[in-house]
Amino acid sequence: MNLSALIDAHQEELVHIRRFLHMHPELSFEEANTANYIQQFYDKLGVPYRANVGGNGVVATIQGAFPGKVVALRADFDALPIQDEKDVPYKSTVDGVMHACGHDGHTATLLIIGKILWQLRDELTGTYVLIHQHAEELDPGGAKAMIEDGCLDGVDVIFGTHLSSNHAVGHIGYRVGPMMAACDSFDLTIQGRGGHGAHPHQTKDAVIIGSQLVLNLQQLVSRRVSPIESAVLSIGGFVADNASNVIADTAMLCGTIRTFTAETRALMEQEFYRVLNGTMVTHDASYTIDFTKGYPAVVNHERETLFVRDVARTIDCVTNVFEMTPTMGGEDFAYYLQHVPGTFFYTGAHPGYDVPHHHPMFDIDERGMEVAAHVLLQAALSYQHQHDVKR
Ligand code: MN
Repeated sequence: MNLSALIDAHQEELVHIRRFLHMHPELSFEEANTANYIQQFYDKLGVPYRANVGGNGVVATIQGAFPGKVVALRADFDALPIQDEKDVPYKSTVDGVMHACGHDGHTATLLIIGKILWQLRDELTGTYVLIHQHAEELDPGGAKAMIEDGCLDGVDVIFGTHLSSNHAVGHIGYRVGPMMAACDSFDLTIQGRGGHGAHPHQTKDAVIIGSQLVLNLQQLVSRRVSPIESAVLSIGGFVADNASNVIADTAMLCGTIRTFTAETRALMEQEFYRVLNGTMVTHDASYTIDFTKGYPAVVNHERETLFVRDVARTIDCVTNVFEMTPTMGGEDFAYYLQHVPGTFFYTGAHPGYDVPHHHPMFDIDERGMEVAAHVLLQAALSYQHQHDVKR
């Protein structure tokens, strides 16, 4: 079968869907209309699906005529609380909400893949599970709930991609092992004892205690984590409102901890508490904390990653297959990879001007979607012949 021709034939519809979604973005966990749109798309074709999977998730299943492996493909569909500042006809129509990470493109791509697989079903081997996931951007995310609701039941392998405004169209980035970081965060309130600025000896100065804590915590990465490992601890907030002659009673700090391995993640949490408790003992202060364990690290499976790399190299519209540098960003695709083998890769969609993800000017080159569709489709179909990879 000629996938290039099939994808070409759907190019206009692909762009149409992406632009419609771009104009109608919805925030994480509030994506009811987007979920409906996806359901209606499958309704029109007659593709069977399950709605409300783990929340707003939608899972379509396309059974080929011949028995084979069960391949899952995943696309997320939530948007961000960002004002769209682009001057384009498909600009967001919702004030303060925007598809600023390309999830609209992921969804359009997976819908068109679904349509093509449905057209081909009489000649296909295997089963194709199309996971349309809500709420990737906001902890606890949609992936975990969808898995608990059975979206991976019977699945042999999973593939997913992220469109990237940082890489040129035609470029595919892969990586074996840890590719994106585990993201933990904390909100901390230090309880000191406030008082008069002229009589510090009668107080426990929450500003001094907090300042010392910030500096002590900066030594975790440099002195507790092996220099061969990677970790980040960033304090994003430090608030202790008061007057110039008043010593602060409390100080509020918040921050994020990013790591790649379970060992370093556990070490950072353990040492974080040791330094926190030690600093409190030093000053006879106390604290309350909300420590949130976020998404685990995205750890790609070796065989499936190299399989997708090799598939990508055979595709005409792919001009460069490169090994990605890991990023400290997070992704709840991590959860799928804890349950079944698979890989998450980057698909270039540089819009012609430099702009990061989550930026008010974010956009994609829509041709990136065709490349993503081709690699995902080819990987899903070719996987049926990877008999040695079955576990
Ligand atoms: Mn994203």
